[in-house]
Amino acid sequence: MSVARPTVSRIGNTQLISTLNNRLVLEAVRVMQPTFRADIARRTGLKPATVTSIVNDLLKQQLLREIAPAAVGAGPGAAPPGGRFGRPPLMLELNRDARRILAIDLEPDHLRVATTDMVGRIIHYREQNHNRFATPEATIADILKLSRAALGTVSRRPVLGVGVSLPGLIDTEQGMLLSSTNMPKWRDVPIGPMLEQALRIPVRVERSIHLAALYEKWVNPQHQDRTVVIISLRTGVGMSVLHRGQLYVGARGLSGEIGHTIVDLNGAPCECGSRGCLETFVSASAIVERARRLVRAGRGKALAKEARRPAGESGEGDGITTELIYRLARDGEPDCAEIVRDVGRHLGIAIANIINLLAPDEIVVAGAIDTAESLLLASIREQVNASALPRSREHVVVRAASETDKLPLLGAAVLIAQQLFELPVLRHADVETPA
Ligand SMILES: [Zn+2]
Repeated sequence: MSVARPTVSRIGNTQLISTLNNRLVLEAVRVMQPTFRADIARRTGLKPATVTSIVNDLLKQQLLREIAPAAVGAGPGAAPPGGRFGRPPLMLELNRDARRILAIDLEPDHLRVATTDMVGRIIHYREQNHNRFATPEATIADILKLSRAALGTVSRRPVLGVGVSLPGLIDTEQGMLLSSTNMPKWRDVPIGPMLEQALRIPVRVERSIHLAALYEKWVNPQHQDRTVVIISLRTGVGMSVLHRGQLYVGARGLSGEIGHTIVDLNGAPCECGSRGCLETFVSASAIVERARRLVRAGRGKALAKEARRPAGESGEGDGITTELIYRLARDGEPDCAEIVRDVGRHLGIAIANIINLLAPDEIVVAGAIDTAESLLLASIREQVNASALPRSREHVVVRAASETDKLPLLGAAVLIAQQLFELPVLRHADVETPA
């Protein structure tokens, strides 16, 4: 139940080798494109004749296309030796529009749906608020409505599959959301099979935090040699670890619950049943609740003014959101800035602990934080400097993710896209051995 890498069903040796070689070539083109056949052979270690034959096949399937070096500004001299008949060899790139992917991100408070091209670049995007107390049936109806509208835009291009990002505990094999502390009505919901039956496209589900890491890995080939920790600050807070290109997901895929590590023994009750968890300080609802307390105490004047209802009438639907708090903090509103700094201090303590435990090369902070990014990161770094062991923290880079609030959505697209590129995980039982 880890982030399922593409698997192969029972397969013969010849077919296996051909699958592996195809994916090696496609991945080489993805990482180097536009590129020459000779460079693919060098990178993959395949014989030039083998590369030629695979490339011909991939051109026929329209997964690759040829492109003149001049068209990409490679200029004369960029072509490798071999153009001795006067005409430089053509370069290759992915035909990204040949396939489409449907990506869905169900966050307790948001629903995001996108169609992407073959490598996970967004073509069509829609998002709407989600009521985390809604029934699974109502939510799935909303997802289907958004999905059908999105699929209406793919104009007869083949759809590779549907990737779904889910919060909480998941059985990836069964496509089941087992439970989510932030969506109490969801218990053992077979959301994967339900979507698959309605859309008639293969569906795969995965935890949002692991998908955030999958996307980071996809767009950063240099992560192959490093240890990277991704902290995702959304409705809740999660963590994922990439070690030398592999995702660490723990037993039954359950790792990463940093939000429920305890930072205050006498702290407030948490939705998980414990007390003083990190989430009780930094989750979206904790941040909003803290702002409401300020408003009730007659402070945070700008906040009360910008929220839909006047001070004194705070509560569900009062217009106070994390987005508003972050925006006011960025604009220098002192009470909101103090809330963000305090979130940064608590995250900083958790991150310092991670640094001491795992000694990563890099910490990537993701989530709906863009407007207050610099303030939050400054506060995190200050706390890390104060709390992590000097030798461990010395070389760690703490940075914001490139696609902060869409990371799991993009990861859901990559979950499907990688079926074309990633080498399959093989178990002995999958491979036919010669009699
Ligand atoms: Zn908890």
